[in-house]
Amino acid sequence: MTHFETDAIRTQLERSQFKEHSNPLYVTSSFVFDDAEDMRASFAEEKQRNIYSRFTNPNTSEFVEKICKMEKAKAGYAFATGMSAVFSTFAALLNSGDHIVSCRSVFGSTHSLFTKFLPKWNIETTFFKTDEVDSIENCIQENTKILYAETPTNPAVAILDLEKLGAIAKKHNLILIIDNCFATPYLQQPIEFGADLVIHSATKLIDGQGRVLGGVTVGRADLIREIYLFSRNSGPALSPFNAWVLSKSLETLAVRVDKHCENAFQLAAFLENHSAVQSVWYPFLPSHPQYEIAKKQMKKGGTIVSIELKGGIDAGRQFLNNLKMCSLSANLGDTRTIATHPASTTHSKLSEEDRQETGITDGLVRISVGLEHITDIISDIEQALQKIKL
Ligand SMILES: *Cc1c(COP(=O)(O)O)cnc(C)c1O
Repeated sequence: MTHFETDAIRTQLERSQFKEHSNPLYVTSSFVFDDAEDMRASFAEEKQRNIYSRFTNPNTSEFVEKICKMEKAKAGYAFATGMSAVFSTFAALLNSGDHIVSCRSVFGSTHSLFTKFLPKWNIETTFFKTDEVDSIENCIQENTKILYAETPTNPAVAILDLEKLGAIAKKHNLILIIDNCFATPYLQQPIEFGADLVIHSATKLIDGQGRVLGGVTVGRADLIREIYLFSRNSGPALSPFNAWVLSKSLETLAVRVDKHCENAFQLAAFLENHSAVQSVWYPFLPSHPQYEIAKKQMKKGGTIVSIELKGGIDAGRQFLNNLKMCSLSANLGDTRTIATHPASTTHSKLSEEDRQETGITDGLVRISVGLEHITDIISDIEQALQKIKL
């Protein structure tokens, strides 16, 4: 068995006659057959081969194979975006009348799917509070089919106990789906704890350089088969170019995420001692409420630091306006450090009550810590904090 870093680099496509060292890019919509029999057998799935890039393409297959090795998954399918991975997974596995139990603190668009769109097909969701994993069993109904969670959560970086989630899903025969985007496959592998499927927005740390959108679902082969059949007919496939970019990015995922985590930890430690900051949430700070769980299931603390500023919404907005180097952007997991104010942007569509329950207070600022020199990151943030006038 080779290691994570090695698999990320050495998962090689079959070489062409040119004996290329780096995997080439296959920009082609379809593939040719030798004869009528070859075509028949290919469509009958008697052979594994590429037919049409909406189904599979060498570049998307390479990307999926790498993620499967990293997540210790049996199979997967790659999507144009993280949200198409989330939606297609639900659409493939659920029937009208099914029920989902999900942690309340999920990515904004996932929350909208649960509350605004899936109900159109008579699929309802019951939310449990992120810090009340023990209450999940009260939410389970006879028609519950999926248990869904993110950890660390966005944007408050709360940690859910994957081992407990795995045990509950097993006991009640639910499909456990974990959005592992914030942790990346390098820091945490939910399948080890009993997850049936793992979803990633590859747009974030998997690309890591703010260039392309992508998504992937990996896990149990029988479930992936359903997701594949739905997707090859409905058409959310990842483009070969984006797959090629993402596969190259995976080669450096481990070193990038190591450095992101090192910078994030140093920034979190600095902010914890700053007088303008009310609280700091970073999973590997001993002050984090779920520090012990984070240590148990994550390799490092992740790349996001969230802070509560003294002075609420006004302080939050001043802080963003005072930043000189850090970007104000909707993305995260980029080489560039990015600051956002969730209450007025990504989570503005949530009701006040939902925001309170998911820990999105008015003064919460989410910092996606980049790969600039840590001294420069800290000095930009320090000067922005110093200029806040209350
Ligand atoms: C960004 C994100 C998504 C959606 O991914 P897109 O690639 O933007 O569609 C889903 N889940 C989490 C946790 C995310 O951060």
